[in-house]
Amino acid sequence: MSDCIFCKIANGEFNTPFVYETEDLVAFNDINPKADYHVLVLPKKHIESLNEVDDEKLLAKLMMGVKAVTEKLGLKSFKTVINTGREAGQEVFHLHIHVLSGNIKGV
Ligand code: 5GP
Ligand code: ZN
Repeated sequence: MSDCIFCKIANGEFNTPFVYETEDLVAFNDINPKADYHVLVLPKKHIESLNEVDDEKLLAKLMMGVKAVTEKLGLKSFKTVINTGREAGQEVFHLHIHVLSGNIKGV
């Protein structure tokens, strides 16, 4: 989607460093971290939220992406959060998993 900030980041338009990348996923640091480590894991494909997901393989890949990120960063204890819908706190409508570790202040 042309006006989606996460699509632009995933496309490399801002030269955002990726913590992790596969054919289907990217992970990068949250711009406003709520913990010592705050990484966002998302599909490259634009999907608004968990409500729009119909691809179980993609969901599995996202969770494996979370594991790859935590292993790469050496995180043994971490929290994962998916906000779905505005009332639940979703601000960016491109599906993403928050991975937080160390001094977590919440998302
Ligand atoms: P949500 O509230 O949608 O679950 O989470 C959106 C997250 O994206 C927030 O934690 C916010 O700080 C982060 N964010 C918003 N815009 C940008 C951006 O341009 N770059 C990065 N790296 N993170 C962003
Ligand atoms: Zn998008």
